Amino acid sequence: MRLLRLRRIVLSLLFCLLTVTPAALPAQTPVQTPTAHAVDKSTPAYTLPPETLHKAIAYSRARTTLGFVSTAWGILQLLLLLTLGVVYRMRNVAVNLSRNRWSQAGIFLLELLIVTGLFDLPLGLFGHHLAVAYGQSVQSWPSWFGDQAKTFLLTYGIAFMLVMALFWTIRNFPRRWWLVFWAVSMVFVLAGVFISPYVIDPLFNHFESLGASNPALVDRLEQVVHRAGVTIPPQRMFLMQASAKVTGLNAYVTGFGASKRVVVWDTTLAKATPDQIQYIFGHELGHYVLNHIPLGITFTALVLLVSFYIGFRAVQWLIARYGRTWRVPTQLDWGALVIMLLVLSTIGFLTQPITNAFSRWEEHQADIFGQEAIHSLVPDPAATARTAFQVLGETSLADPDPSPLVVFWTYSHPSIPDRAAFARDYNPWVPGQTPRYFKK
Ligand SMILES: [Zn+2]
Repeated sequence: MRLLRLRRIVLSLLFCLLTVTPAALPAQTPVQTPTAHAVDKSTPAYTLPPETLHKAIAYSRARTTLGFVSTAWGILQLLLLLTLGVVYRMRNVAVNLSRNRWSQAGIFLLELLIVTGLFDLPLGLFGHHLAVAYGQSVQSWPSWFGDQAKTFLLTYGIAFMLVMALFWTIRNFPRRWWLVFWAVSMVFVLAGVFISPYVIDPLFNHFESLGASNPALVDRLEQVVHRAGVTIPPQRMFLMQASAKVTGLNAYVTGFGASKRVVVWDTTLAKATPDQIQYIFGHELGHYVLNHIPLGITFTALVLLVSFYIGFRAVQWLIARYGRTWRVPTQLDWGALVIMLLVLSTIGFLTQPITNAFSRWEEHQADIFGQEAIHSLVPDPAATARTAFQVLGETSLADPDPSPLVVFWTYSHPSIPDRAAFARDYNPWVPGQTPRYFKK
């Protein structure tokens, strides 16, 4: 799930949250057919052969460490730029080169993005190296650098608009800008969610109509749609050619209003059985039917409102306390942008467990919805779902026994072992149980 990839930089918090996105789901492997009634709960629902297990543990540890180190480094580098007077010098360059506010913002932002981009590059290179070494990515270095360049330009363009809007609100509402800028940010979030399927996603991947290449599959997916009692026209179903870059399986719901759609990765079609694809699609349909995108936007709005208020107070305090040392005298100085980024990055890290808990809750709902949605369409929904998680976990090298703290802080989805175990044990069609979303 997770959508937009504009991570970092200028109000990265805002855009990380834009990742109000959809799902990361399951796939492949031949479906065995144990009956859902004879469930053996004594063995784990998700297991890996010894060699894969070693790789999965090593890869998870490396990814987790890299994630925390990147976050800490992102915060530390802003602190260093302020303390060493780099921010002050960058601000002087911008102010000396032009008297025009728009030009000054453009120059200052460019300096900041180049410097932080260079600081982040080693960790980015290492992350891609890891993904390739562990078979998660097949993207060439030129293509990877191309994506970095596109992300840089996109970030620059969006950040420029946000920065102009931010300083306009600070000038006009010196004590209430956190509230006004929150409203402005929500316009950006809504616009971003709406246009990203049209404008941003196609910059990074190729999309085509799912029906054009896989008409038989669309028929099977329409069975799920029909059972859920909704309508998703085939023109809102897309196939993404993910195999050009990655090996993992995925599907997601994205967009908003007229741009709302379901996207299935071609890797999923290649590795999953038709039954499993129906389950994966059922999960995505859950996000679609249960309105998880509007819900996610609402949740984002709340998190941003609280973050901006706390951020506003923290920025005032930091300028009063360190403004002289950092040579950022007021919140109207361009250098104040770096203080705001510092504060928002820190708040973003601290609120990560909350946003991830919300995401895991949505994902669990979608898992339930998906399993109920394929009842009567596949011979054994529990086995289909469990084996789908087995394949998803094997291909993505999911750790069968992740640390609870790491799950709590960083997992946007419940862990694969938890999802597989839930799938194996969930059968609301037996006497005494009631399905949550479908009639018995
Ligand atoms: Zn999902």
